[in-house]
Amino acid sequence: MNKSEALPSAVFIGIGANIGPVSKNFARALANIEKYARVLALSSLYESDPVGPQDQPKFTNAVIKVETRLSPFKLLLLLQTIEKEIGREKTVLWGPRVIDLDIIFYGDLIINTDSLVIPHPKAHERRFVMEPLLEIEPTAWHPAKKMAIRDICAQLKDSQMILKTDFPRF
Ligand code: ADP
Ligand code: MG
Repeated sequence: MNKSEALPSAVFIGIGANIGPVSKNFARALANIEKYARVLALSSLYESDPVGPQDQPKFTNAVIKVETRLSPFKLLLLLQTIEKEIGREKTVLWGPRVIDLDIIFYGDLIINTDSLVIPHPKAHERRFVMEPLLEIEPTAWHPAKKMAIRDICAQLKDSQMILKTDFPRF
């Protein structure tokens, strides 16, 4: 077994939702993730206007840092199972959702397949992902863009965002 197989990887997961009860859905997602991964950090919750269709509630977003031995594909399956369990149904692209769990980074791995792309292909364009990530990991590095997250944040065009509250734990 080589070193990378033996060690759990640091993984950043983006959480988003805009159909309530949003803070309860966040807490449920966290409780489920904690069954399979060690949660090392939680960002604050950030509120932002929807990407895509505007006739829907604002989104709440956060990023968490976890340590897991699950492979990227097993982690994706787990996150999709948790999304379904919380009540997510297939929705329109960028439409309303009770929970969205995205793998932002998985260590410094780069994966490009039909079902899984890591780093998440839109993450670097989204302030609601980059800001919470910077909050919990000020030295974070984007392994595909080869840029510090701090610099990505400084260059973001996506300007609006509201800092909201602490991550809920029930
Ligand atoms: P989005 O998150 O872009 O709003 P969905 O949550 O509906 O859209 O995800 C659509 C598909 O994105 C999923 O079926 C999944 O296979 C794929 N996907 C690709 N890369 C990732 C990733 N890094 N994290 C989560 N899902 C991903
Ligand atoms: Mg998703």
